[in-house]
Amino acid sequence: MRIYTGNLYNLKKIFFYRRGKIINDTQKIPETPEINIIGAGLAGCEAAWQAAERGVKVKLFEMKPVKFSPAHSDKNFAELVCSNSFKAKSIENAVGLLKKELETGGSLIIEAAYASQVPAGGALAVDRDNFAGYITDKIKSHRNIEVIIGEVGKIDLNKINIIATGPLTSESLHEEIRLLIGGEYLEFFDAAAPIVSMDSIDFVSEGGAFYASRYDKGDKDYINCPLTKEEYEIFHKALISAQTVKLRGFETEYIEKNVFEGCMPVEITAKRGEETLLFGCMKPVGITDPKTGKQPYAAVQLRQDNKEGTMYNIVGFQTNLTFPEQKRVFSLIPALKNCEFLRYGVMHRNTFINSPELLDNCYNLKENGNIYFAGQITGTEGYVCSAASGFSAGIAAASKILGLPGYIFPKSTAIGALAHYISGGSMHRFQPMGINFGIIENPEITGKIKGGKKFIRQKIAEISLEYMTNWRNSQKHLEKLPGM
Ligand SMILES: Cc1cc2nc3c(=O)[nH]c(=O)nc-3n(C[C@H](O)[C@H](O)[C@H](O)COP(=O)(O)OP(=O)(O)OC[C@H]3O[C@@H](n4cnc5c(N)ncnc54)[C@H](O)[C@@H]3O)c2cc1C
Repeated sequence: MRIYTGNLYNLKKIFFYRRGKIINDTQKIPETPEINIIGAGLAGCEAAWQAAERGVKVKLFEMKPVKFSPAHSDKNFAELVCSNSFKAKSIENAVGLLKKELETGGSLIIEAAYASQVPAGGALAVDRDNFAGYITDKIKSHRNIEVIIGEVGKIDLNKINIIATGPLTSESLHEEIRLLIGGEYLEFFDAAAPIVSMDSIDFVSEGGAFYASRYDKGDKDYINCPLTKEEYEIFHKALISAQTVKLRGFETEYIEKNVFEGCMPVEITAKRGEETLLFGCMKPVGITDPKTGKQPYAAVQLRQDNKEGTMYNIVGFQTNLTFPEQKRVFSLIPALKNCEFLRYGVMHRNTFINSPELLDNCYNLKENGNIYFAGQITGTEGYVCSAASGFSAGIAAASKILGLPGYIFPKSTAIGALAHYISGGSMHRFQPMGINFGIIENPEITGKIKGGKKFIRQKIAEISLEYMTNWRNSQKHLEKLPGM
């Protein structure tokens, strides 16, 4: 085992000067054509594989089994810490399309998932031990990858690094990242409200949504979902009795210590009294429903969440309800009764950086070209999205070492859409996000669309998979590079 020590000189300079400025001054061209990848999770393994397959030497650092995060327990790489599902296979589902693109592009993670799959209907589920074993063997036997076991606490700024240490990044590296990017750019906790698709909100029916701002102040930026007294009572009863996610010991402790009033789960606020929400996130005062000309008994507000206006978050509805319960209970709000949830609310400890401020669409730190981030630490969510960001970052870092232009996947692919969202798509306080059709560029279709949403999704998939096939073919020459 080798324990890594980074370049303290550069770090001290970064610490004493304003974030970013000094980094540009001291940034050097890497001394050796080699990439350091920190963290052998889903993102780190995918990044290592993509870089190594392009003939680049990779040093892959992993702290297991010397040290385990509170959620990891297996010595193998790419450990699935919870569910064994990679979600739907269908390309009419955004995660399904992302998987297909990755498969087309030559992803190790998806290859391993298919090699270890277990029956799961329309979903791709895996035998987790076979999955992690398959990846560990492939990584360890690749001639361009050297595995170094031990916790990394320092980043060598003279080398190209991909930081892929996940939502439970160890404390010493957490501190190092804080120094590198500035404390205000690093989050520890994920308390996110659900996000719904704009085109699934009901504006038409009686009791449907309407645009308004409270007391008519400023522009009518919010979508308001009114409830009558009877509807509110049914909703409140369902909310306080709904099933919540069972937290692990370390998460409960973390949430108890760190959640402040503004981030309180909506179901906990609701349990404080039947009317509490009417003075909080369901407050109706100052809102007039244009259909009735009156103030509703209760109102839920939705706020635009992406530049394109295809996604809206439910304001103040951060929650710890299970995903099926979120769908059941929040669909009791009349304007959301047929709503499509693009992201469910979550509450757990989660290290992630403010990517829209910090990263470009190759997952490269804007202010230090030698540093890339990949995986859940960038704010991607879930196994497949973490692998996708590792895929992009690995290719981009390898291209840099090889003196090739950086590769940016277009927004018409799920891989590219995710990278673009992570590096700039969020309008408000950045919160982690998985792939969804709301962020993938729609093809231009003129005239009346037969087949509606299904047709558009098929068209998106057709365009993106054709792109990925052509891209993969364009990469064939790299197999002849030295080292392969
Ligand atoms: C409790 C919990 C449950 C989850 N459940 C699910 C789920 O059911 N489905 C889902 O899709 N997603 C789930 N996630 C999210 C999941 O973590 C990601 O989808 C995925 O694992 C992230 O991949 P990653 O490669 O970014 O990080 P990880 O898979 O966590 O990999 C990071 C690796 O970095 C290593 N590491 C950390 N610090 C250091 C260091 N300083 N030096 C060296 N190595 C280091 C770790 O040991 C680990 O191997 C869950 C997350 C948590 C915390």
